[in-house]
Amino acid sequence: MDVSSAPVPYHHPCAWDVALPELTVPQLLERAAAEAPHAPVIDFMGRTYSYAQVLAEARRVAAGLASRGIAKGDRVGLYLPNVPIYLAAYYGAMMAGAVVVNFSPLYTVEELAHQVADSGTRLLVTVDVASLLPTALKVLDGSALETLVVGSLGQMLPWTKRIALKVLGRKALAAIPRRADVSKWEDLLVESNWSQFLGDGPPILPAAGRDDLALLQYTGGTTGRPKGAMLSHANLASNALQVEAIDPDAGSRDVILGVLPLFHVFANTCVLNRTVANKGCIAMLPRFDAKQALQTLQRVKATAFPGVPTMYQALLDHPELAKTDFSSLRVCISGGAPLPAPVRDAWEERTGSRLVEGYGLTESSGVVSTNPYEGKRKPGTIGQVLPHTRVVLLDKEDPTRPAPDGQPGELVVAGPQVMQGYWNRPDAAKDAFAEVDGERWLRTGDVAVIDEEGFIAIVDRIKDMIAVGGFKVFPSQVEAVLVEHPAVKEALVLGLPDAYLGEMPRAFVTLNDEVSATGEELASWLNARVGKHERVSGVELRAELPKTMVGKLDRKALMAEVTGA
Ligand code: AMP
Repeated sequence: MDVSSAPVPYHHPCAWDVALPELTVPQLLERAAAEAPHAPVIDFMGRTYSYAQVLAEARRVAAGLASRGIAKGDRVGLYLPNVPIYLAAYYGAMMAGAVVVNFSPLYTVEELAHQVADSGTRLLVTVDVASLLPTALKVLDGSALETLVVGSLGQMLPWTKRIALKVLGRKALAAIPRRADVSKWEDLLVESNWSQFLGDGPPILPAAGRDDLALLQYTGGTTGRPKGAMLSHANLASNALQVEAIDPDAGSRDVILGVLPLFHVFANTCVLNRTVANKGCIAMLPRFDAKQALQTLQRVKATAFPGVPTMYQALLDHPELAKTDFSSLRVCISGGAPLPAPVRDAWEERTGSRLVEGYGLTESSGVVSTNPYEGKRKPGTIGQVLPHTRVVLLDKEDPTRPAPDGQPGELVVAGPQVMQGYWNRPDAAKDAFAEVDGERWLRTGDVAVIDEEGFIAIVDRIKDMIAVGGFKVFPSQVEAVLVEHPAVKEALVLGLPDAYLGEMPRAFVTLNDEVSATGEELASWLNARVGKHERVSGVELRAELPKTMVGKLDRKALMAEVTGA
């Protein structure tokens, strides 16, 4: 780009410009355990686990992985809901030099298998719940996965009936064949004298450095084809510390209501690493349940609650709300999708806490910007960038040029939290970054405007993505399933406004001549085959679908036709 035409990057006023300690991800845990060994880091249904306990368990995991031949850079997968062993597995794998791969507990066999193969995951950790173990076993049989490690929801604590997920009965568990490639969690752990790893002798575990990969976080990116965003130790630790740095009460040991799924990047930074950075406690629930969330929030006296807009709405709609004491709650952080003003107002009025809107994406380790926790904020914006983060707006049609002055443009980001690229996809990484003045900027696929105070408002989206609650759905993935139906000739999927979820997919199809089907039949056929959030509100039959000049199906034109925009 011609330097004279280069846009001036926006960054936050220096008040937020703080030094960020240069730590790796496990060093965040080690630092907290050294400073507050007996402070609780986990509250799981009323049982607490201290920093010292979780660090000890993570070290046993690291030693166990090393003893099984997991070497530096090998991939270790976590196919887990929010349970205590998540922390030990996550930090333990990284202590062994391995790269963690997060798997959504909602994955189907095909999705799990695809991600195992794409990432080259050697060992996968799961728990013995009916919704996960059978899927994991099928993938173990049909893939190159070497080992499945099975813990239980209540690992590190006795079984309690209050746990809401269905577990497999004893019989079903006993029926799992004894096989060399399936281990119990406790068999993974190796008791070790940690000093042998850290002591004077040659290190046995290859310590990961700041530039080493820590996490492969899968995302559809801007196109929908799932790929692993490569996040380094520096990326993840920086983002946790950047988020911590903008808190006027930084270091105040939050008690976080941890209902966002830990496998997601938003929770990875705002629930897990950020809380560990301030020696706080994560009150976790294995899945989001409005009543349990409200009861937990009150029981643990939560001080902070990161969530997606639909969670705040669900809590507001629940009868338990009237009985809940919110006096401990100081700040709630909404992200993942636009926060509707009525939800924010109702939440703040009822709870007396501040609900701030932030923004980020998988490729930025989670967080790019947020409205301030105190002082002036601007509703309808995603706030100002975090310290050490800069953004510019590029021309929507031509990302090699700045957007015309005062016009909306594609938001691109530079900062220590920006990913290294996509795993095994140098081609995709090329499109993910724009070059401005010889510097690499992450393309977000979101169109924004920025005001004179650096507050950013998202006004449009270039990428073909539908935000269903906090979950991201890619039309191309759903369309690919639809055209497998013998009656369907062509399919387009749009994200249309939905009062509760923000957006919901809706399909439009043309049919083959000889085969007939109704919209209802197609919708139930499709909804039985896709993930929960990919389910469509309906399938509409059309005589034809709009096409571009070169004859490609034209999603934009259909959107304009359907919405009248
Ligand atoms: P993911 O990588 O799954 O976290 O999705 C990131 C995308 O979610 C962003 O690129 C945005 O399109 C969207 N997003 C996240 N936060 C917000 C927000 N506060 N307002 C509008 N869109 C958001």
